[in-house]
Amino acid sequence: MLELHRNLIDGEWVGTDAVENINPSNVNDVVGVYARASEEDTKRAIAAAKAAFPAWSRTGILDRHAILRKTADEILARKQELGELLSREEGKSLPEGIGEVTRAGQIFDFFAGEVLRLAGEILPSVRPGLGVEITREPLGVIGIITPWNFPIAIPSWKIAPALAYGNTVVVKPADLVPGSTWAIVDILARAGLPKGVLNLVMGRGSVVGQTMVDSKDVTAISFTGSVATGRRIAAASIEHNRKFQLEMGGKNPTVVLDDADLKVAVESVAQSAFFSTGQRCTATSRVIVTEGIHDEFVKALAERTRNLRVGDALDKDTEIGPVVDPSQLSQDIDYIEIGKAEGARLVSGGERVKRNNEGYFLQPALFTEATNAMRIAREEIFGPVAAVIRVKDYEEALITANDTDFGLSAGIVTTSLKYATHFKRNSEAGMVMVNVPTAGVDFHVPFGGRKGSSYGPREQGKYAAEFFTVVKTSYTLAG
Ligand code: NAP
Repeated sequence: MLELHRNLIDGEWVGTDAVENINPSNVNDVVGVYARASEEDTKRAIAAAKAAFPAWSRTGILDRHAILRKTADEILARKQELGELLSREEGKSLPEGIGEVTRAGQIFDFFAGEVLRLAGEILPSVRPGLGVEITREPLGVIGIITPWNFPIAIPSWKIAPALAYGNTVVVKPADLVPGSTWAIVDILARAGLPKGVLNLVMGRGSVVGQTMVDSKDVTAISFTGSVATGRRIAAASIEHNRKFQLEMGGKNPTVVLDDADLKVAVESVAQSAFFSTGQRCTATSRVIVTEGIHDEFVKALAERTRNLRVGDALDKDTEIGPVVDPSQLSQDIDYIEIGKAEGARLVSGGERVKRNNEGYFLQPALFTEATNAMRIAREEIFGPVAAVIRVKDYEEALITANDTDFGLSAGIVTTSLKYATHFKRNSEAGMVMVNVPTAGVDFHVPFGGRKGSSYGPREQGKYAAEFFTVVKTSYTLAG
């Protein structure tokens, strides 16, 4: 019998209704058994967070610093074990799993420092004798709703700043991958958080997430996930006059110019498009290539794609783990069929592959002869599928890169300072990468996009304070 991992509500581990967490590399491997919260449980979690807020918001900064530091230390000390858990439940390769856990540890470490660095401003008033202070205060109860593709990093980069700045939290991880979030909540609880400050409610979005969204006692919502759910959360949050932050989809381009270093271009695109099984919001899915390098680049990229080693996430030879679940797998396969029907040419991969275990393995798919009007170039697939679009020159490449509803990340591979500089200035994405993959970002600088990809202040780094605090302006008559 596997031990039941329960929800944390008001300092108590509770819950009976359980669901099995299945390993996508091996459907016969049950990663763990996790409780599912009900609407009632979620309401109790929100009430507990509300009750805990006044005391927590006034807790000394050294106490908050110590809890976050201790959490960072334990996450980093257990990175191998937690990396294995993450790779088993989500399917990314073990080095990627360990890398994500390391990042979570670094995030808690960073925000432990930020607790001590929350600065305000003092200005002279336009009225002589008056002083003006601008201070930052916590918001209250933060509802955190996260997707399945970064099951430890995304909850961490929301929970850490929320707690650092004195808020209380109700967190709901994706139903598909509750294990990694459960592990960090367990670590935080043992690190000394008072009861009610952090509440974990695992379960379905339609039940748990919706109850959070509908509650007037949730002061702010930080959400990462699909555009459809994000829009629903936005509409409900406006009804409640509540602050919200949305990180959603992408259709990220990498531009490859004639003057690119071919090896850099191939590696950068292969990494961006296919690593983590293409299941990253920052993954490259449109590869926009100028005529002069097109044929040579496509040949080399097709060969690299063909040779990518797809397999069990925990196998040391694996470069690309399985797709996360059957429904994402059928979405990927549907889009591969759509691409073919639209007239793009499948030059590599796109077929299911068999391994010793029964898992959701898919050889990454590379299309050429695509146009930017095709559905495979416009809609987020969220799998290991990329489409090469041939263009005449840099100018057409830039227009094509920006011709999308999304604006999360964009890359260019070039040896030209002129084009690199122009692209950085004129790309309509929130993050721009020159000669590096579109995916892969640091934890101490802002993360987020423009257009349909994001809404609200940036996440991560000191910019996180924009969302997780509210500004107060106070006037004092100095006499
Ligand atoms: P999703 O289906 O929107 O789910 C995200 C979260 O919302 C899950 O926890 C889900 O619960 C919950 N949810 C579903 N319905 C809800 C409702 N009515 N009210 C409140 N919460 C609800 O997205 P996903 O498939 O997990 O993730 C993939 C998407 O995330 C992609 O579009 C990807 O681009 C995006 N993403 C964006 C970023 C970024 O930073 N821009 C980063 C990573 C991923 P369940 O557990 O029941 O599904």
